Amino acid sequence: MTELAPAPGERAAGTDGTGIAPIHHWIDGAIVEGTSGRTSPVFNPATGGQSGAVDLASVAEVDRAVQSAKQAFASWRSVSLARRAELLFRIRELVHQNKQEIAKLLVAEHGKVLSDAMGEVTRGLEVIEFACGIPTLLKGEFSEQASTGVDVYSIRQPVGVVAGITPFNFPAMVPMWMWAPAIACGNTFVLKPSEKDPSASMLTAELLKEAGLPDGVFNVVHGDKVAVDALLEHPDVAALSFVGSTPIARYIYETGTRHGKRVQALGGAKNHMIVLPDADIEMAADAAVSAAYGSAGERCMAVSVVVAVGDAGDPLVAAIKERLPKITVGDGMDPASEMGPLVTREHRDKVAGYLDSGAAQGAKVLADGRETAPAGDGFFLGVSLLDDITVEMDAYRDEIFGPVLGVMRVDTYDEALKLINDNPYGNGTAIFTRDGGAARAFQFDCQAGMVGVNVPIPVPVGYYSFGGWKDSLFGDNHMYGPEGINFYTKGKVVTERWPDPGTSKVDLGFPRTR
Ligand code: NAD
Repeated sequence: MTELAPAPGERAAGTDGTGIAPIHHWIDGAIVEGTSGRTSPVFNPATGGQSGAVDLASVAEVDRAVQSAKQAFASWRSVSLARRAELLFRIRELVHQNKQEIAKLLVAEHGKVLSDAMGEVTRGLEVIEFACGIPTLLKGEFSEQASTGVDVYSIRQPVGVVAGITPFNFPAMVPMWMWAPAIACGNTFVLKPSEKDPSASMLTAELLKEAGLPDGVFNVVHGDKVAVDALLEHPDVAALSFVGSTPIARYIYETGTRHGKRVQALGGAKNHMIVLPDADIEMAADAAVSAAYGSAGERCMAVSVVVAVGDAGDPLVAAIKERLPKITVGDGMDPASEMGPLVTREHRDKVAGYLDSGAAQGAKVLADGRETAPAGDGFFLGVSLLDDITVEMDAYRDEIFGPVLGVMRVDTYDEALKLINDNPYGNGTAIFTRDGGAARAFQFDCQAGMVGVNVPIPVPVGYYSFGGWKDSLFGDNHMYGPEGINFYTKGKVVTERWPDPGTSKVDLGFPRTR
């Protein structure tokens, strides 16, 4: 535990005697109190009580953070690769040492269970570890004697001030997907985290400072649309990474690119898991339950629809149903809990609404999480299962983002594939089968960016890149891994000749290589 980071308990206790902790910005290496006069409540989803009030930045406060990042850029981009790598190793160590403290903040504000929160930080650490290899990752190419006496080489340089706008569901990991490669490449960074669970970003800022990152290289501004629009329109922001829902991702991409910025905007998802009749049904049921209800379904890679092909339907539904009563729902800090609450009361109610609309539109409600939710004011919904869903139903068309799994039954593999390919989203998908040929055909034909074969949540490891297709990603580069390095750098090619009186002459012709 670093001395700079107050324990989550201290934060929850607040400093003003109200029990509500103020959460401020982080600009130029220090906490900066908001001056806009606007705040947003932060809740503990397990109790339903307000634990914090986060400042919402004004345009002027966003500008202050961007100016700090702009100021820091010139010297940060000049820091040697060796020194940057050394710093990233130190950051990696500090994040690792403070893993539990970060995870506790995630539990307190997001609601996920502690083991899941620890897993989130571990997956984020993978990206920091990848970024530690920045000297190798930024190596260019060299062609000696491309023309007589002329050498050509390529280099990659940072783009400048980069902004990251992140969703509520991974308050530590998704920012790490962005800031770790961005600063490793020599950029400076302004993070606008979700206003629903902002504290992990503040602890991250403290850890980065403790590691020795110069002030201004990493800044945090909290806020809503006002702050986001200020970043989108700011002339000194060169690039913008976004992760969130599809309508906002589309808006960010269109507005950011219109303002001349490089943008990668990852959107929502509706992930299908196909189960063929030859699959190991017990394995598929374990996978479906884990992937649908882990983190209360608030994962962009959660399985939302199981597509049972042919005879797989009845045994699969029976095996899923059998597992549901064994899932313990409760406060994320209770080691017995396997699934926590949803992030807000409004979101819980919206998710529960899909059980009513599903029933009204003809689905069978095999498990209604309202009946099994823990008592109290927490934002709980128990595990819920809808059978016989169809493409017309709201529960199929919408990204539910909660613990509601739908089962759709189809006769053939081709019908299952068509569902995936006709769906507007294309984030992740999976197939469960023992047939290697079917699996290979599936990975060849399916329209999605991340594919699992007997793996329900195929989140790529840190040295590959993460991203969906269709309405799940706007922009060209996926996040982290090699594509992340590409996104946070600009290519430059240098053609070089050194004075040689023997070959020097005036030549107005088109530059030749022979
Ligand atoms: P969201 O789109 O509501 O918010 C994301 C960010 O955008 C937040 O920082 C928020 O403050 C900001 N924002 C919200 N409304 C805005 C507006 N009108 N104008 C400008 N900015 C605005 O998403 P969320 O509810 O925080 O997160 C859940 C969503 O994120 C789901 O759709 C999920 O699938 C998606 N997600 C996608 C991925 C992925 O990798 N594709 C990963 C995680 C989450």
